[in-house]
Amino acid sequence: MNESPRAGGSRSPLAVFRYSGRALQLVWSTSRRLTLALAVLTLVAGLLPAAMAFVGAQIIDAVVAATQSGVDADRRLVFELIGLEALIVIAIAAAQRGLSLSQSLLRAQLGQRVNVMILEKALTLELAQFEDSEFYDKLTRARREASSRPLSLVTRTFGLAQNGVSLVSYGTLLWQFSPWAVLLLFVAGLPAFIGEAKFSGEAFRLFRWRSPETRQQLYLETVLAREDNAKEVKLFQLGPLLLQRYRDIFHKLFREDRRLTIRRDSWGFGLGLVSTATLYGAYIWVAVATMAARITLGQMAMFMMLFRQGQSAVSASLSAISGMYEDNLYLSTLYEYLETPVPASQGHATVGPSPGDGIRFENVSFRYPGGDAAALYDISLHIRPGESLALVGENGSGKTTLIKLLTRLYAPTTGRILLDGLDLQEWDAGTLRQRIGVIFQDFARYQLPVGENIGVGDVSAFHDEARWQEAAEKGMADEFIDAMSDGYQTQLGRWFNNGRELSGGQWQKIALSRAFMRSDADILVLDEPTAAMDAGAEAAIFARFRELSGNRIAILISHRFSTVRMADEIIVIRRGRILERGSHQSLMQQDGHYAHLFSLQAEGYR
Ligand code: ADP
Repeated sequence: MNESPRAGGSRSPLAVFRYSGRALQLVWSTSRRLTLALAVLTLVAGLLPAAMAFVGAQIIDAVVAATQSGVDADRRLVFELIGLEALIVIAIAAAQRGLSLSQSLLRAQLGQRVNVMILEKALTLELAQFEDSEFYDKLTRARREASSRPLSLVTRTFGLAQNGVSLVSYGTLLWQFSPWAVLLLFVAGLPAFIGEAKFSGEAFRLFRWRSPETRQQLYLETVLAREDNAKEVKLFQLGPLLLQRYRDIFHKLFREDRRLTIRRDSWGFGLGLVSTATLYGAYIWVAVATMAARITLGQMAMFMMLFRQGQSAVSASLSAISGMYEDNLYLSTLYEYLETPVPASQGHATVGPSPGDGIRFENVSFRYPGGDAAALYDISLHIRPGESLALVGENGSGKTTLIKLLTRLYAPTTGRILLDGLDLQEWDAGTLRQRIGVIFQDFARYQLPVGENIGVGDVSAFHDEARWQEAAEKGMADEFIDAMSDGYQTQLGRWFNNGRELSGGQWQKIALSRAFMRSDADILVLDEPTAAMDAGAEAAIFARFRELSGNRIAILISHRFSTVRMADEIIVIRRGRILERGSHQSLMQQDGHYAHLFSLQAEGYR
């Protein structure tokens, strides 16, 4: 992890190959056949150009010889050689086609594979990591770029190998002319390489720094162009304001980009001139040698071609190397993400030492990572199976946080939470999640058929239509679902064809039905999912909820006292602490905060 930022700034020439091995492994394991095809075709495509230059020289010399001798056999040789060159050209074209074919096939498979890896990793992460902006940056960066980069790295590695093979073969032929010529060919490219490596590094650092801004831009795009935000954007006339912000971010980024691009290209041009000068120096050298009759006309043509092609192979290698450098840097973000440590899944227990003990909070306090004050202080409570608990308190008092701790989305900062006498941390995560069914106030509204929206409550019955119906009936959603044209198959949401939108209250009924799907869970939690329903419906739902929960634990968060009063125990939370607790009766008798709030609300109804 800590290595990667260093990789980002590393200037070591070998950093270019840092991830090549891993990328290659990834590609190899994605498709062996295509990787082999790539390797073989690369070799072939690397060797053929030199063969072509060689045959080209033979042709010229054969033409000269045939002109001088006038012998038929010499003439035939010329035609045979031309035929051979044509064959080589065809072979080069075939190899190149084959390369690009294998690459496109691999690209599709590899993109999918890397995206699946990214998503699989996402499944193992903790909620806290998603809420951490730095981590979220990593995820965004990994997703945005890295799926195309592994193949690019491999393609470039192979491209480099291909050009390397070509260069060696050109070098072998050039050696006949002069070993110095070989040296010249390689040295001429060096300054350009150093320039490329430097600027690629800079481009990446820029990319990394500006990640928060890019994320902001992405967010603005979402706000401006997504259906769920359109309503407010229109009515508050936010459009122009947000669009302007979007533009400003672009201009800021563009200014930096422009500076870098201009510098990069100016240097590239300057260093490129060095290569051109070298090339033409070599031309003169070859021409002089020909005029001095040290080499034949055919050889002259060949050496000139070797120089020209050698030069372009050098510059192709250079851009491959600088591209690889960039790919490596981008890949480092992918691996940084993939290697994010996941807190080892603590605990494997599937039963507790005292089954039937229910839930205990023992002096639990909690502070959000990076939060400045604790969200919960010293909470102790005990709920047995068959009991119902209602949590009451102002917004921000810590009710949802308590549920997040109970569901182990977060771990207490101090104190512990026991289920059946065993610390939550020691429970097997899967078992724990199966025992608890929670509907949060910001429950998900999946753009799936309405039946599946209920089915998500129990993945083992995700497709079970009979169970959907049963749950919908308990959640009072059956009535409006039956009225829809496609019944339980009706698509919800606007992203897809014929998607239907539901009202807030209808969505909440779907969410409640989801809770009723969880027939195996022995702890059911409703965190204000009923706020958009009318008071009568909410009370009816909770009454039914309690009746159906039988020997289960039911926990409810609500602002409606008509519902809250039905709970066996009521806990009033204020600024993270338990202020009062007891049944409705006893709390009313205490005549404290609860009684005050209750009568306030009752007055409102009078
Ligand atoms: P309630 O459910 O009672 O309305 P919450 O439990 O959601 O209140 O919030 C309790 C406190 O914790 C609030 O001050 C809130 O700002 C803070 N809080 C809630 N969620 C987070 C979070 N993910 N990160 C940091 N602070 C949070």
